[in-house]
Amino acid sequence: MNAFVQVREVPFYQPTADECAVFEAAQAKGLPLLLKGPTGCGKTRFVEHMAARLNLPLYTVACHDDLSAADLIGRYLLKGGETVWVDGPLTRAVREGGICYLDEVVEARKDVTVVLHPLTDDRRRLFIDRTGEDLAAPASFMLVASYNPGYQNILKKLKPSTRQRFLSLGFDFPEPEIETRVLKHETGLDDRRAGALVRLAGHIRKLSGMDLEEGVSTRLLVYAGSLIAAGMAVERALEAAVIEPLSDDADTQQALRDLAATVF
Ligand code: ADP
Repeated sequence: MNAFVQVREVPFYQPTADECAVFEAAQAKGLPLLLKGPTGCGKTRFVEHMAARLNLPLYTVACHDDLSAADLIGRYLLKGGETVWVDGPLTRAVREGGICYLDEVVEARKDVTVVLHPLTDDRRRLFIDRTGEDLAAPASFMLVASYNPGYQNILKKLKPSTRQRFLSLGFDFPEPEIETRVLKHETGLDDRRAGALVRLAGHIRKLSGMDLEEGVSTRLLVYAGSLIAAGMAVERALEAAVIEPLSDDADTQQALRDLAATVF
């Protein structure tokens, strides 16, 4: 028999501790997982990597303050004069036994938590009130959410009744050696320049909370590294990928430039 095997590329992810084992155990036991950590530290890449490794379909939803339960579950749409039901990403993940990743879940509207609760306890069910369907999630279905505890927004804290339904993994910017490896892999930069970017990040991160709301993310370092690897002058690349994105304040920007000059 000629079986068609779809080979899915596993996106590169550099583990920082035992997070892959925790994810695998959570998925095997049907437990939901919450990833806590600053923006741009590798949470999304981690989920993409694990979904590909486990060969499960992945539905990622970037949550925002207008995102409602209907956006996740689905809605009736008019198609060629007919009203048809269209599944939302959460429903599709449940039907297919895949992974639904709710990025920045605290941003979503309150009615979303009502939908998540029966899916995150031992019922593992999704009730679609519009169609009357009551779906039992297959064993392979997994709910993953992310949340950035760094944002100082008391209105947007995750409620204990929700967060206590999830296993949690704390994420942070990787150790210098690991972050250098990530930069080299993502940008093709050599050891010396990748190392310098990571050293600069270390200095900048010490400033976060004082002049900066949040330290520079690995994502921004990847941007800077990509520009430098493509031939852009270091100062110009840092200006576009690090200094401008981090601050609008002229004094803070100058302090960052001075810091960069000590490293490069
Ligand atoms: P988050 O979801 O935490 O906001 P991302 O997963 O989008 O962050 O990470 C931003 C970028 O940083 C990724 O696209 C990737 O290039 C890089 N990155 C960060 N951490 C890692 C890691 N551990 N392994 C591989 N790439 C990483």
